[in-house]
Amino acid sequence: MNFNIRTHTCGELRKINVGENIVLNGWVARRRDLGNLIFIWLRDRYGITQVVFEPVYKDAYELAKKLRNEFVISVEGKVRIRPENAVNKELTTGEMDILVNKLEILNEAETPPFEIKNDTDAYEDLRLRYRYLDLRRPSLQKILLLRHKMYQVTRKYFDENSFTEIETPVLMKSTPEGARDYLVPSRIHKGKFYALPQSPQQYKQLLMVSGFDRYFQIVKCFRDEDLRADRQPEFTQIDVEMSFTNREEVFKVVEGLMKNFFKEIWNVDLSLPIPRLTYDEAMMKYGSDKPDLRFDLQLQNLNGVFTGTEFKVFGEVLKSKGIVTGIAAPGCASFSRNQVDGLTQLVKDRGAKGLVWFKVGDGKLDSPTAKFLTDKEIYDLMNKLNAKQDDLILILAGDVNSTLNQMGALRLEIAKRLGLIKPDTPKSLLWVTDFPLFEWDEETKRLYAMHHPFTSPRTEDLDLLDKEPGKVKAQAYDLVLNGNEIAGGSIRIHNANLQAIMFKALGLSEEEAQQKFGFLMNAFRYGAPPHGGIAFGFDRMVMVFAGVDSIRDTIAFPKTASALSLMDEAPSPASEEQLKELHLKIRE
Ligand code: ASP
Repeated sequence: MNFNIRTHTCGELRKINVGENIVLNGWVARRRDLGNLIFIWLRDRYGITQVVFEPVYKDAYELAKKLRNEFVISVEGKVRIRPENAVNKELTTGEMDILVNKLEILNEAETPPFEIKNDTDAYEDLRLRYRYLDLRRPSLQKILLLRHKMYQVTRKYFDENSFTEIETPVLMKSTPEGARDYLVPSRIHKGKFYALPQSPQQYKQLLMVSGFDRYFQIVKCFRDEDLRADRQPEFTQIDVEMSFTNREEVFKVVEGLMKNFFKEIWNVDLSLPIPRLTYDEAMMKYGSDKPDLRFDLQLQNLNGVFTGTEFKVFGEVLKSKGIVTGIAAPGCASFSRNQVDGLTQLVKDRGAKGLVWFKVGDGKLDSPTAKFLTDKEIYDLMNKLNAKQDDLILILAGDVNSTLNQMGALRLEIAKRLGLIKPDTPKSLLWVTDFPLFEWDEETKRLYAMHHPFTSPRTEDLDLLDKEPGKVKAQAYDLVLNGNEIAGGSIRIHNANLQAIMFKALGLSEEEAQQKFGFLMNAFRYGAPPHGGIAFGFDRMVMVFAGVDSIRDTIAFPKTASALSLMDEAPSPASEEQLKELHLKIRE
């Protein structure tokens, strides 16, 4: 095919180019045929330029009648200034157009299943099936370009700070702890499996034993979990590990990177250091380990207010060492019954038994529950919550962790309903520190590592490890941006004895620990430096920086919430022959 390579992109031409002869290549984004005048919007990833066909250039004009959306074309012509009243402010090139004297159709296109435009109303499933067309939409291209920029900022930053980028295996040993592994059957070793890494955690620690000192990698991780809106079965981390380090140094490195992101992506000067909250503070004040501090609306512990209460619902919770927590939602006394029921449902869906509410009227509380409280309790309650007229007081009571979480969800919902977060609300970035080392799982009746089993306890809590493991805090930290956990890490255990105690607390026998993590434990016997690190959830971070709600919008070829790739139809059945080679049989 004979066509001229473009002289400019479709987003490039400006007034100063008027009079020039140029060549553009691109896709037909829109056509308007006015009889003796044909207008085409020509699109590439840089923008859109209007090109015009007039009968003076007969061949081009006749051929242009055939053009349809998404045809791929090359045009040659002259840049003209548009009359004042025809300037299109929507387009960066809107001050001029091109009078085409030569048209080449490089490829035709079938009518696409949906129109390629930013404000599409096509269902996401359809867009995912034709993702290559979806990705032509400028709004998605913009996000992937932002993502590209964030990779570059990352690589430059870590390189400048003496970090080495090292790739780690994708086929590794299955060491499930936390999420479920994706398994890959071995053909050569019958009955054996590789696992896809949930993260390169053990490898990066081994690299510290090897002396690499400062490591980073932009890496794919795989977790076979039930998906939530902001999760994908395969996702990307910026993975970081450092030797001879401590929490303060890890924070400093991360804060430098965040400063660069804020500047490069948002043009915001981030002031350092990034504020910190302990896990306990975050839970008590905001009902979340990733609190959104773009608005205040703090929870108040009401245990003191209701000590010795006659009101059974609260009394029993206090007796069983639970918590009564509340917030005063400003001006929300006007909520209808229906709206309040909606809030009740929200916490019930998260396991709460019910929601106690009071509307603050003129000097009194309006609620079916008010009659169960004494005047003093009401007085103290109002005081503690600093409640004002027209506020809606919301109270939950139950076991500490779930109740705080439910209240945290309520806090976010109230903020949403009140529109407390505006586009120009300053960003909220903070560290959450001192997470519990373990969490208790009711179902399996055992402790799990809240972060992962290689996380070091705080030195001051070492004595508690066998006696009261539930009280031990970890040297673990998360970075939270606008209510999203964007990174998490810890200072590691680098001592084989302490690691063995940790495995024991997790209910792993010596053999099990040896079988699963033996290679790491062995490595630690040959001089492991103190080390620690962090990993960023890159897709989620791009989501926040791009200001979009869906993690799928930040990934070129994402999976659906049920882990399907609609475009290539993965997962798909394997042939009998493939299964046989892998020594596998499908169970009915
Ligand atoms: N590997 C950890 C994770 O994926 C992060 C870390 O501790 O560095 O959560």
